[in-house]
Amino acid sequence: MPVASLAQTCSSRGTIYDSDRQGRSIFPGIGGASLRTAVGIDLGGTFIKGAVVDEEGTIVVKEEIPTHAERGPDDILRRMEELVRSLIERTGIAPAACAGVGVGIPGFIDTDAGVAVEVVNIGWKNVRVRDPLAQALGLPVHMENDANAAALGEAFAGAAKGCESALCITLGTGIGGGVILDGQVLRGASHMAGEIGHIVMYPDGAACNCGHRGCLETVASATGVVRLATERIERGEKTELQKANLTAADVFAAASRGDSVAQAVVAKAVEDLGRGLAIGANIVNPVIIVVGGGMARAGEALFRPLREAFGRYALGRVADVVTIVPATLGNDAGVVGASKLALFP
Ligand SMILES: [Zn+2]
Repeated sequence: MPVASLAQTCSSRGTIYDSDRQGRSIFPGIGGASLRTAVGIDLGGTFIKGAVVDEEGTIVVKEEIPTHAERGPDDILRRMEELVRSLIERTGIAPAACAGVGVGIPGFIDTDAGVAVEVVNIGWKNVRVRDPLAQALGLPVHMENDANAAALGEAFAGAAKGCESALCITLGTGIGGGVILDGQVLRGASHMAGEIGHIVMYPDGAACNCGHRGCLETVASATGVVRLATERIERGEKTELQKANLTAADVFAAASRGDSVAQAVVAKAVEDLGRGLAIGANIVNPVIIVVGGGMARAGEALFRPLREAFGRYALGRVADVVTIVPATLGNDAGVVGASKLALFP
């Protein structure tokens, strides 16, 4: 049933569920107690994703709009506000019954001031986010960086649900990381805890966006895999890989078909990733390591060698208790985690 007709049929009943994560239509049941809800927002370079999420971590409704970074922060914040209003309206609940809004920001943030300090991929510097949104909406607004929000989402309703400690990473253009302890995200003194992507693996390596060289994300992110493969193509090594429009998925696919250059690239990236995760795990000693992002879709072609590499570097008693698994919330992790900030502040 389309969302609009559900809303028309059931708006008097309270919470409306248009689908669960598998896309099936579900209802909370007539007479069932309404669950508290909050809005989670995931600000990205291309899209702003939003969802109303209930206190069990189930997405009630979701929606996404283009970011249009070029229009500047005021325009983005205004449309973010409209997105929140639209989402709440679609659920049919009174805006005041919404616990608040959580916003995941893809950059460095200052949660005390409610400011996005630096967001490179949408060109923000020192943008006030929390107070303007809270004033416009009349709701509490909470902020988190996007990697921490994704980690919180996986701990709330995904692969790390019920785990008291978790190390979560997202393998995309960079490597985002978040540490969960006792169900809470670890923030640290300047909100930088969990930045595993910037462990310096090779001090003389490729330049990283953070200003250092040879960070883990320069060698083991999707971008890193493409860069390593491109270097080998340019050296004239014999491979089926083509330099134009090359993706990490292409490299994994070629490796699975037996392309030795692609296999060497994957092996190197996975070895470094295993070493980076072992460094993080020796500090955190988590019960689970959750790996998400586009590259995690490679499945066991990634996870089998990753577990082996991890085992070569982590302390035995650290490796003994940890499982390394794929994330389960996919692109929803950020909005689910952001909503948790408002549901359980
Ligand atoms: Zn770095």
